Formats: sequence, C-alpha cells, structure tokens
Amino acid sequence: MIRHHPDQNMLLEYAAGNLPWAVSLSVSAHLQLCPQCRRHCENLNHLGGNLLDDSEPQPTADDALQRLLDRIEVAERQSAEEPRTATDTRADKRGSNDPALANLPRVIDKLVRNNWPLKWQRVSPALKMSRLKSGQDRYEVAFHRIGRGGKTAEHDHRGQEVVLVLHGRFSDADGVYGPGDFLVREPGEVHRPIATQDQECLCFSVVEAPVAVTGLLGWLVNPFLSFRPG
Ligand SMILES: [Zn+2]
Repeated sequence: MIRHHPDQNMLLEYAAGNLPWAVSLSVSAHLQLCPQCRRHCENLNHLGGNLLDDSEPQPTADDALQRLLDRIEVAERQSAEEPRTATDTRADKRGSNDPALANLPRVIDKLVRNNWPLKWQRVSPALKMSRLKSGQDRYEVAFHRIGRGGKTAEHDHRGQEVVLVLHGRFSDADGVYGPGDFLVREPGEVHRPIATQDQECLCFSVVEAPVAVTGLLGWLVNPFLSFRPG
C-alpha cells in the first residue's frame, strides 16, 4: 500500500505542465503506480477544463490545457507504440536476472532502455548507484540500490531530492517506505536510509544539487559528491 504521495501543489504543477522534466518524470511514474493520485490528477484536469470554460477568452492561452493534454496523450501513445529495437531486446533480458528492474513504470522503463546496459557504481558496501542520462542539466537522475539490511551514510541536501521507491523497502528516522512511495527531501533535511532485511531496495531519485555530508566519514560513501547532471 502506498502511503506517501506527491502533495497537492506538486500535482497541480504537474497537471499544468510546470514541473521540471526530471521531477515530472517521477510524478508520472508514481501516477502509474497510484490509482488514488491518478484520480486526483484527472479531477484537476477536469477542474482546469471547467475553469477555462468559465474564463474570458484569452487569445494566446485558452487552449494551453488542451495542448498540454494532447502532448501527454501523444507522448503516452508514442511510448506504447514505439517499435522494438535490438536495444529493447537486450534490455528485456534484464528481467530474467534482475527482479528489481522487471516491472518498472513505463516512463522509467523507457529511460532504462535508453541507458542500457546500466553501469552500476559501488558507492559503499551497502549502496550502488547508476546514473541515467536524461538530457537534464539542473538535475541528476539515478537509481540507488541498497542491499538487504544495508545502511547508507547520513547525508543532507543543498537542493531538493525526489525519491520514488520501486522495489523493496527502506526506513529512516521518519518512517518506512515501500514500492510506489514518493518522497520529497527539502534542502537541509538530514536522513540515513536503511534497507529492510528481507530484500534489497531500488529507488529512482532526482536530485537538484549536490548533497552535503554530515557523518565524519560520509564523504567516503556519499553518492552525490560527484554531482553529474545527465
Ligand atoms: Zn499517490
């Protein structure tokens, strides 16, 4: 059961097409996993449509919402209908030996295919990361995977971090998070994710700026020190 969702403001910005692309990708992936937020977004879109119906005609912006909806529809159709390539076939093999990557939300699966084969960098005994090229210069987009029971270094953030749990669970001082849970870490928040003992944990993260280290040896194991936007 998903317990952590994008807040109302983020869903509004998403529906209006105002979020940076990397963040909207995380929201879009959450929506694919979360019927509750999907319904909420549909209501926002209806509301937006009604507001446009009631408003005075604006020569330049009155079709903005419809254009946005058209764009989303076209993007979703393209994603569903894209011809399968040799890269796809190679990437499809990942499911057989990597259960964490087997059932990804479609938008993330597409990113994986574009970055296949993934290059995993061992950050610490418990933590591996794989940066994903996304064409973004303001955000670093990456997978983080924490081994069973693995503890990561305590770190805080200079910029916003958006995390979507895709497989397994992790906990920090604030709670336990499982598949579909969506978290936003604001600048200055300190946390130390620990995976549960039963399985490894895979997260999709979008980080706005480098992360500061709070633990004495944190710099040794801080995955974000070499911030590399994709
Ligand atoms: Zn949700």
